[in-house]
Amino acid sequence: MFNHILNFLFPASCLICKRYLPTDNKSPGICDSCQSQIEFIKELVCQKCGKPLPAGGAHCFQCLKKGVNYHFEFVRAVCEYKGTIKQCIHLFKYSSKDYLSLILGGLLIDYIKNTTEFSEINTIVPVPLHWSRRFQRGYNQSELLAKEIAKTLDKNLVAGNLYRRKLTKPQFGLSKDEREVNVRGVFAVRNTSLIKNKNILIVDDVCTTASTLEECAKTLKRAGAEKVFCLVVAHG
Ligand SMILES: [Zn+2]
Ligand SMILES: [Zn+2]
Repeated sequence: MFNHILNFLFPASCLICKRYLPTDNKSPGICDSCQSQIEFIKELVCQKCGKPLPAGGAHCFQCLKKGVNYHFEFVRAVCEYKGTIKQCIHLFKYSSKDYLSLILGGLLIDYIKNTTEFSEINTIVPVPLHWSRRFQRGYNQSELLAKEIAKTLDKNLVAGNLYRRKLTKPQFGLSKDEREVNVRGVFAVRNTSLIKNKNILIVDDVCTTASTLEECAKTLKRAGAEKVFCLVVAHG
């Protein structure tokens, strides 16, 4: 009966390979075989922004240029933004497949469980959408991911507190400098008592130049956050 209800609620074929989705599939929407094709970042990464550095080194060129000077401690990404994970994130954000937060949130949870880098964190904050974008989409994808983490790892979810004061152009297609300008001064905190002295994990789906994460981190630090860490599903 339960499986019948699930089959009714979720598509019976894999959103990626279109093959029939068995009722004992681990999670809704994407078959176990496609999920197993998700590639994780295994090589060395920039210690600050999390960008993969196949040739090694502590920091990427962009971070060195910036003097490795950010308000967050560091960004980590589970995957590179390509292949299966890129398809999953697209479906999650642009095709109303909000239930993919189970799979994508699961990847973030596994990442946190397998590292000591995030052991200080007590509070989870999603990167906010402007209210009009959230209204269009019906949900904030980053908030769904943050919810999964907070629920499973028993952390404090603080959503809707960090917010966007104005609607900006999408970062997509902008240069690094343009991205920084585009998000400058965009974020604000409603209630600083929820932020003050907290060790915060900012959660987002994708990080490209870390401009948005840096602006969020700056806003949270100014609101009294102790430390800010960032985790995203994909870097690219
Ligand atoms: Zn599949
Ligand atoms: Zn970097």
